[in-house]
Amino acid sequence: MRLANLNGRATLVLDEGTIDVEKASGGRFSSETDTLVGQLDYVRAWLDEAKPDVIDFATPEHVMRDPGLGPVINQPGQVFAVGLNYRTHAAEMGLALPTKPMVFTKFSSSLAGANANFPIVSAKTDWESELVVVIAKRGRHVPIDDALTYVAGYCVGQDLSDRELQMLGSPAQFSLAKSYQNFSPFGPWLTTTDVITNPNILSISCEVNGVQYQNSNTSDMVFSVAQLVSYLSSIVEIRPGDIMYTGSPSGVGQGHKPPLFLVVGDVVDTTIEGLGSLHNVAVEPGFQESSRP
Ligand code: ZN
Repeated sequence: MRLANLNGRATLVLDEGTIDVEKASGGRFSSETDTLVGQLDYVRAWLDEAKPDVIDFATPEHVMRDPGLGPVINQPGQVFAVGLNYRTHAAEMGLALPTKPMVFTKFSSSLAGANANFPIVSAKTDWESELVVVIAKRGRHVPIDDALTYVAGYCVGQDLSDRELQMLGSPAQFSLAKSYQNFSPFGPWLTTTDVITNPNILSISCEVNGVQYQNSNTSDMVFSVAQLVSYLSSIVEIRPGDIMYTGSPSGVGQGHKPPLFLVVGDVVDTTIEGLGSLHNVAVEPGFQESSRP
């Protein structure tokens, strides 16, 4: 299944059109994706049995560009992000590979939908294409072999980053530098784990103004999705709706020779095999976010 937050309502995106989950189920299910993410097995069973009518015949490709797409999860309890999780990216940043996952947060007010604009906040605003994992159920001390059963599904993510603030002092400051308004677009929807059974075999790429700068595969992660989920749960309780950015491959602007950063008007397209793509345009700071229903 693909579950989107479209115009503020939980919406299933099928090949033949979209379904408003709350309306089609007669109120049995919530209109909030944040609630549904812990109930996906029930939603799937209902979908198979009730075979509700689509309400809109928009194709997935059409929905993917809809300005009404919001963050797949509006208010995650925890937003994890993993740094330096691809060898080639650690090398281009001139940083040593971590021996344990290097985890920080992207504050939740930076979350945005798949087609959100984002501000250029300094002369060093940079891109990072990332696989985003959404957690389905509570867990502590989850074994690696069991870890993917705690996952609801996957999204495409952009970990937009202000390198100026990030590298201002020593040690580097990741969390704030990656949490400006709309610096965490993800989506376009959640693709569930019955569709994506192995998250570590997906091609991942990023284009700026149509030029490809990142082109890698999630198989190159230092720590796999299962290892990351297991590791996090050895320290904190993971919970339904938590999200995790899993790190960027090489090819970010900072690693370019010479370094290359985003300017107003640049268009960033991020794609992951089987999950769809994001389309984000760089704008002046202080822009008015288009109002979401
Ligand atoms: Zn990142």
